Amino acid sequence: MTARPGRLVLLGHPVRHSLSPRFQNAALDVLGVPLRYEALDVAPDALDACLDALIAERAAGNVTIPHKGRVAARCARRTAIAERVGAVNTFWVDDDGALAGDNTDVGGFEHLARRVLGEIPADVHVGLLGAGGAAAAVLAAIERWSGSEVTLVNRSAARREALRARFPVVRRATDDTSALAGCDIVVNATPVGLDGTALPVPVARLAPHAAAIDLVYRPGETAWVRAARETGRRAADGLAMLVEQGALALERWLGVAAPREVMWRAACEGAS
Ligand code: NAP
Repeated sequence: MTARPGRLVLLGHPVRHSLSPRFQNAALDVLGVPLRYEALDVAPDALDACLDALIAERAAGNVTIPHKGRVAARCARRTAIAERVGAVNTFWVDDDGALAGDNTDVGGFEHLARRVLGEIPADVHVGLLGAGGAAAAVLAAIERWSGSEVTLVNRSAARREALRARFPVVRRATDDTSALAGCDIVVNATPVGLDGTALPVPVARLAPHAAAIDLVYRPGETAWVRAARETGRRAADGLAMLVEQGALALERWLGVAAPREVMWRAACEGAS
């Protein structure tokens, strides 16, 4: 893509509580880019018409629940990583008018993991809770880690077996959280914890040395992250992933370095 987008949007349903407009607009301000990033609440039956209009406007943007898979299917071009995940969270219109998509959740998760762990250790055993689109992005990152293996825990068999079939790094798939006891890192890729109190798995069920990485974020961090820290474990919520996926998207749309510190500060102010 060479031309600057005509418009920047977030497509989701619902999108009202998203922090993305706050930190993307802080970045646009500091870069002096005369665009606003707008959240559009698009019901599933309105998505195709909305995309047609956005392509005509040469818009670019992000995609969130529940549209990542359908936007991927609409893209004429997808990056290799979006292809691997099967979902698009970042789109733009190429100079020839074709809709193109990427998945920056993968880089966002990688950034979050490094923030918690420092360097990614080799031969690490990861426990992954959830088998939706976010879990697929996590697996696309972890399969590049040397010697890693994953135990996947999800309540419904169909989705966990579908992910196991797509990602050979998944060695075990179960609905039993006691399988997480041998893991060095446990990642929550379910929405459990959004309410501020529920735990995706009791911290006592994790190994004493296990790090806890929560994709969920909320003001004051999640109860799971707080509980993990109280027991001396390394832990972080998903805010850093959110900001990094947004920074990578901004770089894709505008071709300039994202002002990550500005974006992080704006996100922290919005999340507090
Ligand atoms: P999704 O495709 O709807 O998948 C949700 C997964 O969570 C499914 O595997 C589902 O299990 C499981 N699940 C849902 N409710 C559950 C419950 N009460 N108990 C146990 N398992 C439950 O959603 P997604 O796109 O993967 O996103 C998952 C979460 O990740 C989101 O809520 C969001 O908070 C977070 N996320 C964060 C970022 C970030 O940047 N920080 C990015 C993406 C996602 P079944 O298969 O059994 O239904």
